[in-house]
Amino acid sequence: MRILVMGAGVVGITTAWYLQKQGHEVTVVDRQNHSALETSYANGGQISVSHAEPWANPSAPAKILKWLFKPDAPLLYRPKADLYQWRWGLSFLTQCTSAKAAHNIRQMVNLGTYSRCQLQALRAETGIEYDHLEKGILHFYTNEAEFDGAQEPARIMRDLGCDRQVIDADRAVELEPALAPARDRIVGATYTADDESGDARKFTQALAERCQQAGVEFIYGTEVLDFERAGDRILGVRVLQEGRHQTLRSDSYVLSLGSFSAVLARKLGMFLNIYPAKGYSITVPVKNPEAAFNVSLTDDEYKLVYSRLGDRMRVAGTAELNGYTRTLNETRCRAIVRRAAEMMPEAGYWDQAEFWTGLRPTTPSNVPYIGKSHFTNLYLNTGHGTLGWTHSCGSAAALADIVEGRRPGVEFTFSGV
Ligand SMILES: Cc1cc2nc3c(=O)[nH]c(=O)nc-3n(C[C@H](O)[C@H](O)[C@H](O)COP(=O)(O)OP(=O)(O)OC[C@H]3O[C@@H](n4cnc5c(N)ncnc54)[C@H](O)[C@@H]3O)c2cc1C
Repeated sequence: MRILVMGAGVVGITTAWYLQKQGHEVTVVDRQNHSALETSYANGGQISVSHAEPWANPSAPAKILKWLFKPDAPLLYRPKADLYQWRWGLSFLTQCTSAKAAHNIRQMVNLGTYSRCQLQALRAETGIEYDHLEKGILHFYTNEAEFDGAQEPARIMRDLGCDRQVIDADRAVELEPALAPARDRIVGATYTADDESGDARKFTQALAERCQQAGVEFIYGTEVLDFERAGDRILGVRVLQEGRHQTLRSDSYVLSLGSFSAVLARKLGMFLNIYPAKGYSITVPVKNPEAAFNVSLTDDEYKLVYSRLGDRMRVAGTAELNGYTRTLNETRCRAIVRRAAEMMPEAGYWDQAEFWTGLRPTTPSNVPYIGKSHFTNLYLNTGHGTLGWTHSCGSAAALADIVEGRRPGVEFTFSGV
């Protein structure tokens, strides 16, 4: 079957990979001139099954209210005259109950565990290099109340098979000696030995190359504008390439346009509750390898994640629900540099930090849309929010099974629209 994958981020490229392995004739279309040039470009690098607590949880509404007017708050909701933003916000509130949060954690842990296995198998099969490390993820807390609050989600995750252990500050420093200068601030931590880290851009671009070698066609520099349809079938995708309008035709289609999936879905009268949550990252050259971390870290108070990528360090975080703008807010970038430099002063050349911003395609529950839409030949693999890198291989392998009419090997509620 001919399948057109819309989007060449980590989700679109992994989708193309698993579909071509099933013997399909795959084409990928993207507006950029290469893969992974938007949200998959410089993310936090974590393959974190353990990071499955959704933003929507019982303590979220009070925290968001507190942060509403703080310019460097980790999560910023800037109310706009935007119906979709409000709809997303209201739906987010309905996801904040304990029952919904527990259900969403289960979904994310199951998908994450499956995905990490798929990534490991893909890595073994292809030998792709992407500065990956298998040293686990250490989530440290500098606030007692937050650490107390972490016990329950950690227990739920252990019950679900994700071995997230609660440890004390001394053990945290033993596992990652780079945290020694911050020992007195740390009140406790959790550690998940099976988690990993690596550069999502390097991975995606290397996999795109393997896809090409396997016969996948790439159409870059081409903007998807609209669809041609008849009843419940998609007949083609209208695109703009070098100023020329044309229609790309295929047997089936996969929507993996990150935050822009929602915008394109509306052209089909389909509502996907995906809203961009802008995040930032800094990438810093390692100065003193002895003082730089190897274990991937999560700083709970500042909601920052740290990954060592070869001779670079990536620190990422913060979320701004403020529409589709990718304007880089220096205050927020400098807040990341300040915190990271305070925690590990000798680790990096902090004054050489490169700043980046990207739009997480976020659903109110943090759970992505994976499955068939109500159009008979349109599939969805999108809305991966904070964990698109972690969930990419599993989502793509599962979608390829769904396309084949097979039941994916993971317990997850596959939802199209
Ligand atoms: C600051 C930050 C830190 C993060 N840290 C982590 C982390 O540590 N671990 C983790 O698992 N996840 C992390 N994420 C999330 C992860 O990066 C995303 O979930 C993931 O990159 C989404 O991939 P995607 O392929 O869906 O979207 P994208 O990478 O954005 O790909 C979508 C593609 O669609 C193309 N496109 C869009 N519209 C059109 C159009 N109209 N026509 C043609 N092409 C179009 C774009 O060019 C792009 O290539 C982080 C995100 C951010 C912002």
